[in-house]
Amino acid sequence: MPKYVYDFTEGNKDLKDLLGGKGANLAEMTNLGLPVPPGFTITAEACRHYLRHGGTPDGLEGEIGEHLAVLEARIGKRLGQADDPLLVSVRSGAKFSMPGMMETVLDIGLNDDSVLGLAKQSGNDRFAWDSYRRLIQMFGKTVLGIDGELFEDAMDELKGERDDTDLDAADLQRVVETFKGIVRERAGRDFPADPREQMDLAVRAVFDSWNAPRAVLYRRQERIPADLGTAVNVVAMVFGNMGPDSGTGVAFTRDPGSGRQGVYGDYLRNAQGEDVVAGIRNTVPLQELETINPGAYRELLDIMATLERHYRDLCDIEFTIERGKLWMLQTRVGKRTAAAAFCMATQLVDEGLIDMDEAVTRVTGDQLAQLMFPRFAATAGNRRLTTGMNASPGAAAGRAVFSSERAVELAARGEAVILVRRETNPDDLAGMIAAHGVLTSRGGKTSHAAVVARGMGKTCVCGAEELEVDPHARRFTAPGGVVVDEGDVISIDGGTGAVYLGEVPVTASPVAKYFEGEPAEDELVRAVDRIMRHADSARRLAVRANADTPEDAARARRYGAEGIGLCRTEHMFLGERRRLVEDLILATTPEARQAALDALEPLQTGDFTGIFTAMRGLPVTIRLIDPPLHEFLPDLTDLAVKVALAGDRAGARPGVRTRDGADERDRRLLDAVKRLHEQNPMLGLRGVRLGLTIPGLFAMQVRAIAAAARRVEGARAEIMMPLVGAVQELEIVRDEAERILAEAGVAAAIGTMIEVPRAALTAGQIAEAAEFFSFGTNDLTQMTWGFSRDDVESAFFGAYLDLGVFGVSPFESIDREGVGRLMRTAVEEGRRTRPGLKLGICGEHGGDPDSVHFCHEIGLDYVSCSPFRIPVARLEAGRAALACARSGTGC
Ligand code: ADP
Ligand code: MG
Ligand code: MG
Repeated sequence: MPKYVYDFTEGNKDLKDLLGGKGANLAEMTNLGLPVPPGFTITAEACRHYLRHGGTPDGLEGEIGEHLAVLEARIGKRLGQADDPLLVSVRSGAKFSMPGMMETVLDIGLNDDSVLGLAKQSGNDRFAWDSYRRLIQMFGKTVLGIDGELFEDAMDELKGERDDTDLDAADLQRVVETFKGIVRERAGRDFPADPREQMDLAVRAVFDSWNAPRAVLYRRQERIPADLGTAVNVVAMVFGNMGPDSGTGVAFTRDPGSGRQGVYGDYLRNAQGEDVVAGIRNTVPLQELETINPGAYRELLDIMATLERHYRDLCDIEFTIERGKLWMLQTRVGKRTAAAAFCMATQLVDEGLIDMDEAVTRVTGDQLAQLMFPRFAATAGNRRLTTGMNASPGAAAGRAVFSSERAVELAARGEAVILVRRETNPDDLAGMIAAHGVLTSRGGKTSHAAVVARGMGKTCVCGAEELEVDPHARRFTAPGGVVVDEGDVISIDGGTGAVYLGEVPVTASPVAKYFEGEPAEDELVRAVDRIMRHADSARRLAVRANADTPEDAARARRYGAEGIGLCRTEHMFLGERRRLVEDLILATTPEARQAALDALEPLQTGDFTGIFTAMRGLPVTIRLIDPPLHEFLPDLTDLAVKVALAGDRAGARPGVRTRDGADERDRRLLDAVKRLHEQNPMLGLRGVRLGLTIPGLFAMQVRAIAAAARRVEGARAEIMMPLVGAVQELEIVRDEAERILAEAGVAAAIGTMIEVPRAALTAGQIAEAAEFFSFGTNDLTQMTWGFSRDDVESAFFGAYLDLGVFGVSPFESIDREGVGRLMRTAVEEGRRTRPGLKLGICGEHGGDPDSVHFCHEIGLDYVSCSPFRIPVARLEAGRAALACARSGTGC
């Protein structure tokens, strides 16, 4: 039978899985010889058993009884003993800290008899009755499920204008009677007088609190597994409410905001437990304890120093002083801001507590990303219109615009704009790129706007449902009837979700400036610099950028990109050049088609020349055209209307040929749009399928690449075929490309995306024809799950997240079990065929921390991500290498 109960002397800090964080650290402090009240921990395993089977495991009660007996013997009192009671607290404590989410009951063991014993032994009636009323209140609320406000209201009524410390023993005795009445009335039973029954019920209540709605919600948000369960700690009570020489407090071993050393904490005299944080009375800064009780203060500072040395990290603590004597009630490695995490990591290195390897593991890519975003200087002078979801951090101010076109137009004039939409779709991409920020009234954190904005490092507030956005009237209405018209200035805060009227001044973050090449001056930037250098030296993954323009390529290079992993060519067919694509589609003879391609070729050559120049000396993977061609054609409805109107003008019935040349083209375009229409464009005529069915299209692109590569010294072209599912597809386009390259005398590697499940499954064959693979995990995720991304995210991803189908969208972090398995297969089979096969990833996952770790583990050579995410990917690649080295799994 497993052991379900551990005395504090039996545990240690590494047993968090079993004892929870609180229990493991109480044991650790006990073994360090710090003053911890004695107690024991009931394991999370017992809780899991209880939750699974609806009852406590056999033998648990007996085991608790034995440990209780040991505790009683050590203290020399029995639980609830009438003349001199031992009291205990029953405290929750899961593996991951879930602050305030679960239950704790203090002062267990009091009843009508033992309260008198406690009063007599302590010589303090008031204290005894105060403890008793606290017990009934906490027990009533957490164990019996009575609304806590009933107790608070009753207490307030009795207090009137007085502080709770002004209540005397007689007052509190009356409170106890009232509270007992509330219990009887609301729970339909008397407050249990039997101490052991109190304890057992409290233990069960803590177990049950694991599944309380707020705890469930918190776990989902924090991605804490739902089946861990919580441990329960039974701790001998110490009393901060015994009078003015008693009190309770909380402290950090250093400043969690900046990481600086010093004394940070709050203290409250004559109080117990939660009073400090509940704001019942005003706390004093911890420094004042030096005057109140210099001995305890010095001891506390000593203990904090001991804890820091021992945990080699910032700790937070809870303590209580009982009649001048200090007791430690909790410690854990404390939460901190992103800036403090970086500063502290390097400070601890300088203090000799950790080495640089450890420092790199103490910070995260998410923290780094937070530090790179611009921020508002001050918002005091601006009216807040509403608050939406904080979808992509940063701060942005600009003129509200309601269409992608308008955003591009104003941005071209040098205006800062905020793109405001109900929700965005792929057509808004140009506007999103042009805008400083994006605001939507619909959609959650996995909506198109949110995902794309995060990828671009652009500020985004989404789902601001109070806003009524009217794109046709080009305005939105905010609560209170405030109307914002196109051109009016608004400001959005992607960190908080707030939307302000008018311009709030924005400042660039010093960390972003550092990545742009400014010298490291302040402490934070120096810390980032040191950590980045070390991460770079530790990582095995190379980091490349997804970049389609020379500007993006140059920025990526400044941010440390070691090449381009994905240069999309479809953006090069937009704008003015659409007409040439239309010509290509409308061509009815080989000559007309070739003429259209010949017109496109020099333009493409120019595009590639710019990118090769920006990336001189580094590899540039160019993906041949991928999207279905009808994406370049006008909208079906617009065209149909236009053609119908033109028909009327000519006085002819629709469908009759007009003499007007422009209308003739429109009519043919309309035919083409109808002909090319697809039910499922993402599964239709796109990628390599275009190369195989439209003669000359890929050849034109390859010729342009070859010409550009010849022009730019140090150009290193890699040509990538999209959407390949079978080696035969790849062979045909590869043979053609190789012929063109050979004629031009240009060397370029030819490889393929792996983004169709069949490609992953037949990677062994495909590797015969590919010099490299690049995982296109957006499409691979879509096709593996059968999710149409643009549809599912708004339709039901929210529900799926709530239902726990997945803890995080598979478009955000690689689904290791499904998509990841296909990737592993492709890596293994591909390398078996071609040992030197180069492997990378170019989906949006390339900049996601967890996915970067996965890519390291399966042995990819590089990750490629948007320029803004490159520092994050570099850091996470370093962290992944260090984590693997440490785990000894040789991954
Ligand atoms: P949480 O996890 O919400 O912080 P805790 O279990 O730490 O809950 O307990 C709530 C409060 O009660 C804390 O302030 C804690 O210090 C105090 N407390 C818990 N156990 C005891 C005890 N044995 N003696 C005195 N105070 C206690
Ligand atoms: Mg606590
Ligand atoms: Mg794709």
